Amino acid sequence: MLGCCQTRRSEMSSESVKTFSSLETPGYVGFANLPNQVHRKSVKKGFEFTLMVVGESGLGKSTLVDSLFLTDLYSERVIPDAVEKAKQTVKLDASTVEIEERGVKLRLTVVDTPGYGDAIDNHDSFRAIIQYIDDQFERYLRDESGLNRRNIVDNRIHCCFYFISPFGHSLKPLDIEFMKQLHNKVNIVPVIAKADCLTKKEVLRLKKKIMEEIEANGIKIYPLPDCDSDEDDDYKEQVRQLKEAVPFAVCGANTLLEVKGRKVRGRQYPWGVIEVENPEHCDFIKLRTMLITHMQDLQEVTQEVHYENYRSERLAKGAPKKPLYCLFRVEGGAAPSASSNEKDRILLEKEAELRRMQEMLAKMQAQMQQTQNQ
Ligand code: GDP
Repeated sequence: MLGCCQTRRSEMSSESVKTFSSLETPGYVGFANLPNQVHRKSVKKGFEFTLMVVGESGLGKSTLVDSLFLTDLYSERVIPDAVEKAKQTVKLDASTVEIEERGVKLRLTVVDTPGYGDAIDNHDSFRAIIQYIDDQFERYLRDESGLNRRNIVDNRIHCCFYFISPFGHSLKPLDIEFMKQLHNKVNIVPVIAKADCLTKKEVLRLKKKIMEEIEANGIKIYPLPDCDSDEDDDYKEQVRQLKEAVPFAVCGANTLLEVKGRKVRGRQYPWGVIEVENPEHCDFIKLRTMLITHMQDLQEVTQEVHYENYRSERLAKGAPKKPLYCLFRVEGGAAPSASSNEKDRILLEKEAELRRMQEMLAKMQAQMQQTQNQ
């Protein structure tokens, strides 16, 4: 590759060499600069990430999300009373914030699941959640086959924090059922909520028990990827510690307290302060580090594993809402199935027509070219 570029350089006129004379060293082609281009482009475009939080109400989900991203996503939340809770079904509530840090923009969507685990009979609690995840895959599948596929907004769930109560001895049947039902659709990261309610020993015991049950039930949680052998030692050590900390035992707080002259996020108790960002007190920093340093990987696993699973299943089933490429393969376009809604039908027809026009145009151009040549 390098050799090829050098030959082409020697063929350039002296004029063009002068114009592009910023090559630093002989033999330097410049592709070492490619990561900077990718970086510039990504920064300009911004990043998108969707996080889902699941767990019984009151486990500290909202507080943790606000602490993680230093936002106030739930300022207008109304907490239902016990009678309302007994009646309510699981709702899904997506809030999006645009966060900017040193010029890098992150469009963060947090999907909360109020009502999960609150009913008297919870055996259906995860249906609405599965439906929501599938709906996002379906939307992506359709957008991907549409005309405007360059500007798809990716609302697929890239990560799901599953909150486990610190008060039980291990997982509850609902926890196991939820994770089993969803582990092939989303990256599950188990989290022990309100870890300040447990002693150090209790945290270790609960973590061990949870991991044993996860394994015994064949649940696949998000696997932190192994490091390459050429990775530096600090990074390897960081990943080792992150892996060891799963399930992350976390605390959240929205108040800033003063401890030894420092302002810290924490919870004030009569006997002292729990500092959220102190690794000696809880795994909050480890959870945040895991999320930030693995955002790209979480998105890749979503695309390459979960979405591909969904996509191949849908195609095998003979999708009711046909992706457009199926339509184009059948000349003239198959009639959309009865279950397709009106909007889809119009869109499909428009795109098929556009496609026909493009083909006609291409034919006309080819004919004109032929006439010119003659
Ligand atoms: P959600 O319903 O799961 O979103 O829970 P919230 O974030 O609304 O928190 C419910 C209650 O638990 C509030 O009174 C919080 O102040 C409290 N809380 C939140 N995080 C923690 C924590 O880490 N430890 C303790 N002890 N309490 C917490």
